[in-house]
Amino acid sequence: MTAVNSLNKIIYADNAATTRLDDDAFALMIDLQKNFFANPSSDYKLSRPLKKILRESREKIAACINAEPQEIIFTSGGTESDNWAIKSAVLAHLSEQPNIITSAIEHKAILNSCAAMEKIGCTVTILPVDKCGAVNPVDLQERILPQTKIISVMLANNEVGTIQPVKSLAEIAHAANKILHTDAVQAVGHIPIDVKILGVDMLSASAHKFNGPKGIGFLYVRDGIKLLPYIDGGAQEFLKRAGTENVPAIAAMALALEKNYRDMKRNAEKLSDVSKILLNCLNGVDFISNGGKNRLPGHLSLSFKNCEGETLMHRLDLKNICVATGSACNSQQMQISHVLRALEVSEDYINGTIRITFGKENSHEDAEIIGETLTKILQERKSTS
Ligand code: PLP
Repeated sequence: MTAVNSLNKIIYADNAATTRLDDDAFALMIDLQKNFFANPSSDYKLSRPLKKILRESREKIAACINAEPQEIIFTSGGTESDNWAIKSAVLAHLSEQPNIITSAIEHKAILNSCAAMEKIGCTVTILPVDKCGAVNPVDLQERILPQTKIISVMLANNEVGTIQPVKSLAEIAHAANKILHTDAVQAVGHIPIDVKILGVDMLSASAHKFNGPKGIGFLYVRDGIKLLPYIDGGAQEFLKRAGTENVPAIAAMALALEKNYRDMKRNAEKLSDVSKILLNCLNGVDFISNGGKNRLPGHLSLSFKNCEGETLMHRLDLKNICVATGSACNSQQMQISHVLRALEVSEDYINGTIRITFGKENSHEDAEIIGETLTKILQERKSTS
């Protein structure tokens, strides 16, 4: 096997950023867009199939995560779900100076929602993480305040793939009578999730991370949890989220999720094989792998000694390989991601971080090509310096 991407195709290995839309989900979307255009809220017979599709999609999604259908509220994606969870928990309590607890490695959809709430009088407590990116449940236990209104800790991290001990965190939250939300945008469709076993009160998901369309997602809200509407208007989504439903996207999301659930075990095995192949190809290269052992399958965050992640990313791009970086060059300064900083990745390595996230379509050959191309780039760099 030679290291050249001789097939002249693009190798896409940035599935944490987004995934390719599933072919069957795409076909379904097109059919619905074209042939089922009625408004699902209308009362004539043209709307009936849309009502049914909406109901069945909700049931399918609920079944995948062991929720009840009425606990699934459709949103425009992960960012909206996260904003909604955080803001609805505190906005009704502003006079009490409510407190939000979250972790240092959350996505900006959570951290910036918290920052916005801080500006209008909330306090925010940030939980630290260990070198693998995991929150210690004891840290949560010690920081809960009487005025804490919500605890939000992601199920799996988008940069290093670390899976958090959310079940333990939910137990601690509930013992103190607090609500626990988890941003599961990177986890849904990739690892088994049972909301009843996990014990979460709210959970955010986004279809484009599991081969569904962009701009659609959901918020799971456990029965009994009071949620302020985030978008006011009509009576859609149980009066909680107004706006005419995007039925084609919702149906495509449900289908993509069902397919991912059906093949989850096989996909996860394949992804961990593909990751191992890549790591084997890097034999002899000076790098560290971030995020510990309990990580999403196929998710690699690698830091190469005395390198610039951004340069590596661009060099790989020239070879038709798409990966992400953990740092970006901003006005002559390296901007390191808040996640890598929180993990305290050593200074010699932190600048040289790239994220390689395989998807179910990646092959063993893709991993070999990436590994060999990376090794070659690093060797060339060494010989020129
Ligand atoms: N949360 C996490 C952990 C993510 O990785 C992302 C997207 O990268 C989001 C939230 C935002 O999701 P969306 O792109 O659907 O708005």
